[in-house]
Amino acid sequence: MVDLLPRDTELWQLVEATAREHFQRAGVDEIRTPLLEQTQLFCRGIGAATDVVGKEMYTFQDRGDRSCTLRPEGTASVVRAALEHGLLTQGPQRLWYGGPMFRYERPQAGRQRQFHQIGLEFLGLGEPRSDVEAIAIAWDLLMDLGVGPLALELNSLGTAEDRIHYRQTLVAFLQAHRADLDVDSLDRLERNPLRILDSKHPATQALLATAPMLSEALSPASQDRFEQVLDGLRTLAIPFRINSRLVRGLDYYCHTAFEITSDQLGAQATVCGGGRYDGLVDQLGGTPTPAIGWALGLERLVLLLAQPDRLRPAPLKPHLYVVNRGAGAEAAALVLARALRRHGLRVQLDPGGAAFSKQFKRADRSGAPWAAVLGEEEWSNGQVLLKPLRSAQSDQLCALDDVEAMAARLQA
Ligand code: ATP
Ligand code: MG
Repeated sequence: MVDLLPRDTELWQLVEATAREHFQRAGVDEIRTPLLEQTQLFCRGIGAATDVVGKEMYTFQDRGDRSCTLRPEGTASVVRAALEHGLLTQGPQRLWYGGPMFRYERPQAGRQRQFHQIGLEFLGLGEPRSDVEAIAIAWDLLMDLGVGPLALELNSLGTAEDRIHYRQTLVAFLQAHRADLDVDSLDRLERNPLRILDSKHPATQALLATAPMLSEALSPASQDRFEQVLDGLRTLAIPFRINSRLVRGLDYYCHTAFEITSDQLGAQATVCGGGRYDGLVDQLGGTPTPAIGWALGLERLVLLLAQPDRLRPAPLKPHLYVVNRGAGAEAAALVLARALRRHGLRVQLDPGGAAFSKQFKRADRSGAPWAAVLGEEEWSNGQVLLKPLRSAQSDQLCALDDVEAMAARLQA
């Protein structure tokens, strides 16, 4: 788990503000759910056979002897909240969330145990067009951030019936080639054979090159639906590549599954992953409701943004640095700083006490264009001296109680 220090948070705020802006433009509303849920929500909502539920959750008994889990992802909680508060009876929901998620994984660059996601969920939207719109929001947001070349990879998982069919074919094929499978894949062969498709193991990958394909097992209706999504992306000029091995880790996906990857992130290449999960609302006790969503990993996004050839946001400098010394002046400086902040100015107040020369050095380092000097002399005259730090303007004496005039001058 990682601390984000002030030098990091600027970049995070930029990402968050950009996401917020894009969601607002697209009429997507924010939802905030608790970090802690009953364990059973994730077992039902994600599936016991997945890596996330099988080995990555932070689960414990609370003092009331209930099994609780720190949320490993956002979708199950959003659906639970939507059901609990009857949101789905009010028509389709276009929602987004953001915040920390927890998975007990092996930490490495772009993979942490507490990490952060921003995610979108469309509940009650089933048309292929909504898949396209959801993907476009993620794509445009990433493009706007300027994170460099990205690739959208897409697959269709078809319906549950399509997959039952395919699962049998795939398991039969893999059983016949057991000897070539890695240990992880052998384990998945019983529990979650489709996950073998995105194995990173070289020998398994080689074997899969000759395996029957999911795309060939899709019903004509599923294939047609997938084509409509692809057409939509073409219309929006969003480039994509079909990746028939893309299956995604969670059980509840159907039809469209997609990932947005960068080639600058090493093994942790996926910045955004998502897909359609028409079965989840039903599985969590609601009436069957189509849905599609995605989640962005903020750590990976920030890694991309922080690369040297990209723009770091310029740190926000204060409008004014208040140099102050002497008991009366220091008390007045606190009042002045607060009054100016109420006018919307960024004001940095020197802790005081130190010699003026020392305070001026700090004022200079702050980057503020102006210093306000408040010593005993100014204070006893009811005045404050405004000193330009980076321009040739002359010093200006202002009345200490005319904050309005001072604010106007500083913002000019
Ligand atoms: P991966 O294959 O990298 O483990 P995943 O399929 O487990 O990803 P999702 O559950 O789809 O990931 O989560 C969506 C996004 O959240 C990922 O694409 C990634 O950017 C980010 N993410 C997932 N797990 C982590 C983690 N442990 N640390 C940092 N980011 C993560
Ligand atoms: Mg994972």
